[in-house]
Amino acid sequence: MINPHRSSPRNCLTSSIVKLSCLTVVLSLGACSGSVPSETSASGRGDLKVVTTFLPMTLFTTAVAGDCATVTALIPPNLGPHDFQATPATASALSQAEVLVENGLDMEEFLEKLVSSAENENLVTINTSSGVKTLESSEPDHHDRYGHHHHDHGEVNPHIWLDPVRAAEQVENIRDGLVEVDPGCASTYLKNAELYSQKLKDLNNDIASQLQPYSGKSFVAFHDFAPYFAERYQLKADYIVDLPDMNPSPADLQRVATQVRQSQLKALLSEPQEGNRSFNALANDLGVKIVEFDPLETGSLESSLDPNTYFKVMRSNVTNLIEAIGG
Ligand SMILES: [Zn+2]
Repeated sequence: MINPHRSSPRNCLTSSIVKLSCLTVVLSLGACSGSVPSETSASGRGDLKVVTTFLPMTLFTTAVAGDCATVTALIPPNLGPHDFQATPATASALSQAEVLVENGLDMEEFLEKLVSSAENENLVTINTSSGVKTLESSEPDHHDRYGHHHHDHGEVNPHIWLDPVRAAEQVENIRDGLVEVDPGCASTYLKNAELYSQKLKDLNNDIASQLQPYSGKSFVAFHDFAPYFAERYQLKADYIVDLPDMNPSPADLQRVATQVRQSQLKALLSEPQEGNRSFNALANDLGVKIVEFDPLETGSLESSLDPNTYFKVMRSNVTNLIEAIGG
């Protein structure tokens, strides 16, 4: 059922829906540069064939799987899930896989059709967001405050992996799923998940103490990826657009300009896969810098193979965020 509050945002998802309905066309043409199989990442030497969707799922799964499973990313690491269009290689990887690891929460809109067309009856899907406490995509007060609606991903915001505490829950879901499918390797999965979760807890403690002096402060990101991160560290996240490939409207830019002035922000947070000129122009107009906060939706092939990428990127994000909020 469509909540009236969300009826407009749903209409605004047209571009993704068009992509989805074009799936068959894309599959038959094999079009989509950068989506060739050699660019997808694989790690591990184990027997269990696991496919993952986008970067954090690949990092978390690789960490837990160790040598017990071969982990292959369905989406080439340089493409974000918001932009992804499936190729024949995606369909083929999915038809041979035993386990699929997804973020869920409508982040991987391309999956549903693809999974059904793969006709892989034995495929076990691990939804890593299962049981994780979620937040709504657009907060009603945000809507009211600006008399303005936002485009969104769906009912809830899917970017849970950017909160290290929720990321640890995703790791636990991956652990439990792999143990169930492959009990012979249970001790490896349990040990690896424990190690990675401990690093996530340490990261959370470090970030919490680094950001504690800025409690209550606001920041502005490009797309709506930061509510879980912000909630965890008592910050307020605003954003310009809901999805990374959207163009901000004049109203979006004006809202952010007001926000920047009110919060005396020193910088706007940009992201690697976003090359939006209006965002840079806005920063220029407001006399503020642009610093990068990488939402980990994309990465290099090399970074996708190393589970420590999550920690490196998050620590760098925090350093840049402190610069933005005036540290
Ligand atoms: Zn996103």
